[in-house]
Amino acid sequence: MSNTTTLEQALSQHKSSLQQLEQVAASYTPKETMVAPSALMPVIEVFYFAAAILFILGLKRMSSPVTARGGIVWAGIGMVLATLITFLHPHTGNYLLITVAIALGSVIAWVSAKRVAMTDMPQMIALYNGMGGGAAAAIAAVELFKGSSHGATAQALAVVGGLIGCVSFSGSGVAFAKLQGWMNKAFTFPKQQWLNLALFVITLIVGGAVIFKGAAAGLTLVTVFFVLALVFGILMTLPIGGADMPVVISLFNALTGLAVAFEGFVLNNAAMIIAGTVVGASGTLLTQLMAKAMNRPISNVLFKSFGKASGEASEEITGSMKEMSANDVASMLSISSQVVIVPGYGMAVAQAQHKVWELTKLLNERDIEVKFAIHPVAGRMPGHMNVLLAEAGVPYDIIFDLDEINEEFPQADVVLVIGANDVVNPAARTDKNSPIYGMPILNVDKAKNVVVIKRGQGTGFSGVENLLFYAENTHMLYGSGQAVVAELIQSVKSM
Ligand code: NAP
Repeated sequence: MSNTTTLEQALSQHKSSLQQLEQVAASYTPKETMVAPSALMPVIEVFYFAAAILFILGLKRMSSPVTARGGIVWAGIGMVLATLITFLHPHTGNYLLITVAIALGSVIAWVSAKRVAMTDMPQMIALYNGMGGGAAAAIAAVELFKGSSHGATAQALAVVGGLIGCVSFSGSGVAFAKLQGWMNKAFTFPKQQWLNLALFVITLIVGGAVIFKGAAAGLTLVTVFFVLALVFGILMTLPIGGADMPVVISLFNALTGLAVAFEGFVLNNAAMIIAGTVVGASGTLLTQLMAKAMNRPISNVLFKSFGKASGEASEEITGSMKEMSANDVASMLSISSQVVIVPGYGMAVAQAQHKVWELTKLLNERDIEVKFAIHPVAGRMPGHMNVLLAEAGVPYDIIFDLDEINEEFPQADVVLVIGANDVVNPAARTDKNSPIYGMPILNVDKAKNVVVIKRGQGTGFSGVENLLFYAENTHMLYGSGQAVVAELIQSVKSM
């Protein structure tokens, strides 16, 4: 009897220990999940904050050519920091796939950036831009396809970010194709802008339906929304002429930043929000700056083909183009004391910047002062000329912006215009019917002598005749930029 009681007591003790053990097991949470969100998140946020500061300081340094190279490095370090710290984020998974994608992307970017010619830089930027927009759209797609777990606001932000990202992605693809010369025509047809508007409204309605339905939106509706957004990006960019693409790319750049910022809100990622906002704001300012320097509202760039709508210049051209030999130009330069060089798109095409710097040094040796005058939209992208001259080693202190140098042209003995056209066309000041009327220009025509180096009678980007070429004080030196400047160097040396 007593044996049975002892056994029962022992059994009940075991039972209660087992129950205690079960309670302990139920309350146990694995160590990683306890630590990661609570302990690591503040550290991750601090690193994101540091990355954001590096982005902003990097951007600040990019505002001057002297510090720009350093600025790129600072912003790059910020991006590496933000990427690496994201590996520790509790929501990060698929480490192998991410590492492979980063490695592939880095190799492709490194090789292509090393190989790209300076003249092909705008299309390279278009491509990178499109990738940013595509990445933001992809994040939105993941959120919407799985039915965002972050709530209705996040769902709405994902839709807006997805729309902007898709437009930037497919639009940048068209911009790339045009700049690369794969699509030479501006595709226009009657009522095109109305069709685009209708498509935009339909895309907004479908996007609205995705937001309204929330997690129940379903695969088909979300897919239709993304396809419409992508098609809108293509159709919106198709009618814009290839030469207007730099402004469009700058606009897409701003849109990409905005899309990334929206997706940052969806993922609750501070680094994405800050980086996206910085890109969006700077892209918007750059677009405005380019439009202002071309004296064209953004709506005109987006909805009108440049040169066509405004018609040809109406001011009557008097005089004729007078040709001069390289030898005669060299003698003119040799007896000058002040020379201003105005580079344009043609210098970039001819890759003449190294020869131009060689000529400058030669003139300096003969006590001739040489300055460079840069128009804000000379070439095909902002800073195009500054980058080329910096590549050739021209010091920044002899390079001047339009505002800094325009007053000095009357004192210049010779202005050497190398492959520039629209940015020195006086019609912008005098001919109200000219498509470039109102565009601020370099007042080259006010110099004592002007020599224009170009290959022939080709017009500039706007397609209008240049009154400067017919002026009394202007002479033409025909030939491709690099060969002509090399000839000038030889002639100056022989004097
Ligand atoms: P431009 O008006 O396009 O004129 C370039 C000139 O270079 C042409 O007249 C051409 O004449 C000559 N050229 C071409 N290849 C040459 C070569 N190998 N050697 C020598 N000359 C050569 O250039 P720009 O004065 O720099 O003006 C830029 C234009 O682009 C502006 O109208 C601006 O609004 C527009 N744009 C600029 C930006 C930007 O961000 N920079 C953006 C969008 C639009 P030949 O064919 O006779 O040689």
